[in-house]
Amino acid sequence: MINAIFIGPPGAGKGTVASMLHDECGYVPLSTGDILRRAVKEGTELGIKAKDYMDRGELVPDDVIIGIVKEYMATNDSAKGFIFDGFPRTIAQAEALQEMTQIDCVFLLDASEDVVIERLSGRRVCKKCGAIYHIKNHPPKVEGVCDICGGELYQRDDDREQTIRMRLRVYREQTAPLIDFYREKGLLVDIDANRDAVENAREIADYIKRHCSN
Ligand SMILES: [Zn+2]
Repeated sequence: MINAIFIGPPGAGKGTVASMLHDECGYVPLSTGDILRRAVKEGTELGIKAKDYMDRGELVPDDVIIGIVKEYMATNDSAKGFIFDGFPRTIAQAEALQEMTQIDCVFLLDASEDVVIERLSGRRVCKKCGAIYHIKNHPPKVEGVCDICGGELYQRDDDREQTIRMRLRVYREQTAPLIDFYREKGLLVDIDANRDAVENAREIADYIKRHCSN
């Protein structure tokens, strides 16, 4: 059993690689965004707390996030291990995670600003069914129209170039201390995420086999 963390800018393909590793190797992807939304929807005690902060437009504090992660890990026991995506985000979260479980490797999926902007700004989403397209890499048969349901395709605000640049700036400020934290512990593995997600998943799976599993 191994536990790994994915760090990387938006558009590096962390979610895609995590779900490939889930399908091929059985690791459970643990995306804080997903489990936070779920806790809010299910109305758990911590979910209600988190919602209060979100409704006020405030950041959900570390102890609430950590509590939600703890609950998720306790109820979703994994024989293979977890891949943390979007967590930890702060040094306080990283220290709490060290106490909860052993972390075996931390993959830094790094991609250049140009690559990230091309990937994200080309993304189009169907208004009706939520299917995702890319104007270059995965275009619909008819421009602006969903292949599956015929719905109208649009660009999410999050995927506009200016918003992406701002998200990248926030990412860099937020994660620089985390990257140092894990590099000092000797856990950081650099992955060139300018490439295709399939290649990244293969490299990471190989690394885990060679170095982390026992
Ligand atoms: Zn559709």
